[in-house]
Amino acid sequence: MNCEVVAVGTELLLGQIVDTNSSWIGERLAELGIDSYHQTKVGDNFNRMFAVISQAVERSDAVIVCGGLGPTHDDITREVLAAVMGAELVQNETAAERIRSIFTDRGRDMPSNNLRQADVPDGAKVSSIIPGTAPGLMCPVRTKGPQGEALEKVVYAVPGVPWEMKVLMEEWVIPDLQQRAGITQVIVSRTLRTWGDSESGLAEKLSGEIERLDRLGHATIAFLASALDGLKVRITAKGDSEASVREILDSEEAAVRRAIGNEAVFGVDDETMESAVLQLCRERGETLAAAESLTGGLVAARLAAVPGASDVLKGGVVSYAPEVKFDLLGVPEGPVVSTAAAEQMALGVCDLLGTTCAVATTGVAGPDSLEGHPPGTVCMATAVRGEVESMKVDLPFAREQVQLFTVLTVLNNLRRRLLALG
Ligand code: ATP
Ligand code: MG
Repeated sequence: MNCEVVAVGTELLLGQIVDTNSSWIGERLAELGIDSYHQTKVGDNFNRMFAVISQAVERSDAVIVCGGLGPTHDDITREVLAAVMGAELVQNETAAERIRSIFTDRGRDMPSNNLRQADVPDGAKVSSIIPGTAPGLMCPVRTKGPQGEALEKVVYAVPGVPWEMKVLMEEWVIPDLQQRAGITQVIVSRTLRTWGDSESGLAEKLSGEIERLDRLGHATIAFLASALDGLKVRITAKGDSEASVREILDSEEAAVRRAIGNEAVFGVDDETMESAVLQLCRERGETLAAAESLTGGLVAARLAAVPGASDVLKGGVVSYAPEVKFDLLGVPEGPVVSTAAAEQMALGVCDLLGTTCAVATTGVAGPDSLEGHPPGTVCMATAVRGEVESMKVDLPFAREQVQLFTVLTVLNNLRRRLLALG
């Protein structure tokens, strides 16, 4: 069984959007053990889409087409698939009803071209799940093999909008693909999110474990660098049942944590640094404030983006100008790019807002120098129950990266101190 991917959209060719859908689908197929030999991007043009999808059907067992299922005139995936199948477009009543009700529920009039999304090639199966307004399509296509034997291939169509695509893939396309491929094995991944180590550092610490898994063959470890959100260590395990796979994942997670140090892992799967910090504060009965100079409120914004942050996060002071540090936070007049200033900012904001913990950032985001310090000079402090710790780092990045790296690092510093509280 092999499956290839066709991403539809002229914007993909013009570089206006990056084809993250194909890479996501490619990754999922690899995890499932389904071979995938081609990925193609094609513009919204009938003849070229027809040629690309026909070729894909010839050479692969299954094809996933993403994009071009919207209501506008340039969304022509439905028409092209009908032509590839040699079928007419017919209105699917269930999909039409669902689309009408989406508009009625929102109290809006439905533009008549939205009903185009319910037109499907005769003979195609329509997904019962409709995450957005377009259902997924499953189109059987008959071709001939090398000896002239009849072959039945399948073309799936999913919307281009990434979250809609993912829902349909996970809940509809992948189960069907697995069934066709005769995959009965369960494959599950777990991602450990780390902060502080480089990719090569992690690889070195985990080399023994990776070799061991290579020999055993029931699990794999992969590294995923996600820009400034830390390094992810993904463990993928396969087995005959959900329970046996969980067991492998649990023991591998423990092995990875032993190898890289438990404190290096700030979260699992979708857990973020900020949610980890808030949770630790919550468990220990701590409250939190931020005093921010070079991060300009980014720390507080990230914390506040977590639902339920209000029981821990009391507030923040964006003390961008030196006078605000002096007047509001009690920093002594003098240099403000210093660990001493950062420490007083942290203690000062605890006093001002009545919290037990605080983080503080000051430094030079760039591009210009400040107080004789080059861009990327950053001082950070954390205060926990009146005790303050600080660090100074030189970050060789551009302004925005310096700010983001600072946000993550200062939150990680606080996280480690909270962990040490027990
Ligand atoms: P819509 O109903 O929004 O028109 P659609 O199925 O027609 O959905 P497209 O029009 O192709 O999908 O894409 C809609 C949006 O989804 C694009 O503007 C883009 O933001 C995103 N998108 C589409 N294809 C991809 C892709 N391959 N990778 C990442 N994002 C994509
Ligand atoms: Mg569209």
